[in-house]
Amino acid sequence: MELASDIYVRQAVDNCAWADLGDGAIVIDSQEETRMAPIVEREIAKTVGKRIRWVVNTHWHGDHIACNPIWSKQGATIIAHESCAPSTSQRDGNPDIAFQSRYVLEGGTRKVELEWLGGMHTPGDIVVHFPWARVLHIGDLFGWGLFMQRRWDQLSIDRTQQVLARILDFGAEHLICGHGPFPTPHHIKRQLDYYNTMLERIAGLREEGRSVSEVKKELPPPEDMRDWWRFVDWKHAHNIEAAYSGL
Ligand SMILES: [Zn+2]
Repeated sequence: MELASDIYVRQAVDNCAWADLGDGAIVIDSQEETRMAPIVEREIAKTVGKRIRWVVNTHWHGDHIACNPIWSKQGATIIAHESCAPSTSQRDGNPDIAFQSRYVLEGGTRKVELEWLGGMHTPGDIVVHFPWARVLHIGDLFGWGLFMQRRWDQLSIDRTQQVLARILDFGAEHLICGHGPFPTPHHIKRQLDYYNTMLERIAGLREEGRSVSEVKKELPPPEDMRDWWRFVDWKHAHNIEAAYSGL
């Protein structure tokens, strides 16, 4: 579907986004399985009608990089954060451009801005800003209620708060995340608030000596988040377990 002017998303459990930059198509994230390559290529041909010139990986997880080697062989330039460069032995799909904090890609008639927001989900997460359409691709920095951080030291907690606040700073109208439906800035705000409230309450209950199952009973999923993608199924409970044992 066309999310905004010349920006398209194949929406599934693993989203794939692409846009027309003038001199070619840019693809954001390259799926979990190589069998997706021809499917995505066909959709890009139908919508943009230009070859894949650039592939950006929001981070280096298997479900975001599978088609890198295929598109690299077809001549695409792979772009990711510098921390992603040495993390793989898969030669063809490695980044050709690996940047540190910020990178602006001039694509002919349009540009995209890449910014490093790592340290929460993985060391190498970046966001991709499409300024002409006020669209921001945030990869796995938002997981529809799921706590996306991997560690629970103070640095990671601070970083989660910073990252979500920075996403809001962009003032984007549309957001694309790595998996599931499109969030709005309201969802990011709500996530930050939920995160802070949950951490405080879980830490407090744990200090009182409550068990993790007692904490789960004490803290049901918030009413206004019950319709969030897969939230009630497992994410809320998973968050409590992760924070309870991590904090
Ligand atoms: Zn991920």
